[in-house]
Amino acid sequence: MNLVLKSTCIYDSTGAEPFGGYIELEGDKIKAVTKGETKKYEDNANYQVMDCGDRTVTAGLCDSHIHLFLGSMNAATVNVFYTATEEEAAERIYDFYKDRDDEWAIAFGWSHYRWPDEKLPRKESLDRFFPDQPVIAFNDELHAVWVNSKTLQLCGIDKNTPDPAGGTIQRDESGEPTGFLLEQPAMEMVTKQALQVSPQKEEELIETFMKVAHSRGVTSVGAVHVLKIMKHEACKRLEDKDRLKIRVFFAPHMEMETAQLVELKKSYNSDKLKFIGAKGFLDGTPLGYTGYLVEEYADRPGFVSEPLVSREWLKERCRELYENGIAMRLHACGDGAVRMALDAFENARKACGEKDVRNTIEHIEVLHKDDVKRFAETKTIASIQPCHILMESLESHPIFSMLTEERIKLAWPGKTLAENGAKVVFGTDYPIVDLDPIDTIYRAVKRRMEDDRPQDGWNPQEKFTIGEAIVHSTIDPAYMMGMEDKIGSLEAGKLADINVFSKNIFESEEDIPSVKTDLTVFNGEIVYNNLR
Ligand SMILES: [Zn+2]
Repeated sequence: MNLVLKSTCIYDSTGAEPFGGYIELEGDKIKAVTKGETKKYEDNANYQVMDCGDRTVTAGLCDSHIHLFLGSMNAATVNVFYTATEEEAAERIYDFYKDRDDEWAIAFGWSHYRWPDEKLPRKESLDRFFPDQPVIAFNDELHAVWVNSKTLQLCGIDKNTPDPAGGTIQRDESGEPTGFLLEQPAMEMVTKQALQVSPQKEEELIETFMKVAHSRGVTSVGAVHVLKIMKHEACKRLEDKDRLKIRVFFAPHMEMETAQLVELKKSYNSDKLKFIGAKGFLDGTPLGYTGYLVEEYADRPGFVSEPLVSREWLKERCRELYENGIAMRLHACGDGAVRMALDAFENARKACGEKDVRNTIEHIEVLHKDDVKRFAETKTIASIQPCHILMESLESHPIFSMLTEERIKLAWPGKTLAENGAKVVFGTDYPIVDLDPIDTIYRAVKRRMEDDRPQDGWNPQEKFTIGEAIVHSTIDPAYMMGMEDKIGSLEAGKLADINVFSKNIFESEEDIPSVKTDLTVFNGEIVYNNLR
């Protein structure tokens, strides 16, 4: 019996307007898409028709930028983003772990910018609750961890431990570590132990994540490394057991040997689990003064910050990977880093000739006006996280003191890039931001802050339409993954990945936040059903 979805609002991501009709599934594929009324499926024992009313039906959503394993950990542990003080955060972590017997207490999401005086957290507040159990709590940006004394002791970090290159062990006046470790090299000193789990546990965690994704209509993810963690082997084990119910397109770190990357490309190339390139970091973020800019920060004369790798190294690395058919996904927040990436991509094309290598720049928080057209020219994909514009209010947004008025017009751009021919893909950066495609669409369409202002949106010229937001969450990411012939739109012959929203999402932009997902189909199988 074939499943048939009926709706008055099908949005197929092919460029057509929403229409009423039917989508017939057979096995793992879409067999037919019928526009308008048909009697074919009525009272016919060969079909099971699900009437979705006026709920918008789209292709399964793709979140182009997540951190799969830390995201899975986040889904299975505790997130303390909404806490008013350090003490409250410590207590929330304790409440979660007090009746469990985990070896490590792991938490996510704290932000000292939300606490009084923006003071950095210290080990003592955790020691009160956790005298004997090691604790590691990641901040909301995954750029720092807060740990207790037990963790420092277990990982051998004390007064005499030097700071690793590129990382900081925060210390008090006497040189004792305070329990705050900044940036990846310092974080790795504790994550290596804290995140060590059994293969079975890895699989369970990823399955927990899949459930969250399904409840939000997400059927594909672009999984990029952070802290050099990828866990593609765990995904492979799940795939072999037919338990991988989400498509994982992964990008491990770019420092890996080229031969290793080539091997990954060869051995991970199924419709469900695929290597799509190497991920690297070119800078931090302007809000932390670590974003590498073309022109000085307005409030720090002469200071542009610096890139994490040299221009020459990047050029050569990029050329070598391009030659081997391997794409890069480069984190570049400042316009200086964005330009470095564009230069490297352009150079590779010139040196090796035209190849189908789909390079991507991640985040693009500040864009220089001279580089707007270069995305299309170099066929570079722009990976945007619409929720990253979020601050409590526009008044509290630190970017206004950092950039001149002229440059702020191209802060967190998106629409400008799309209008100038770039392929634009949306993501959340989960667990840095919640895995919530509805919020992604809302912020892309409205560009409002947490206080839901300004009414007309910040830099309104960068606002997308709802239809565009869905395209950037479906078929454009499918292109990025090299899967545009198989997923990303509702067309006969494609794999049946489908998302059904809880209402007609096109009816009112103001109502977008109340939309949920009611039904998710992955590879022809219903994996989430709230359509009752
Ligand atoms: Zn990220």
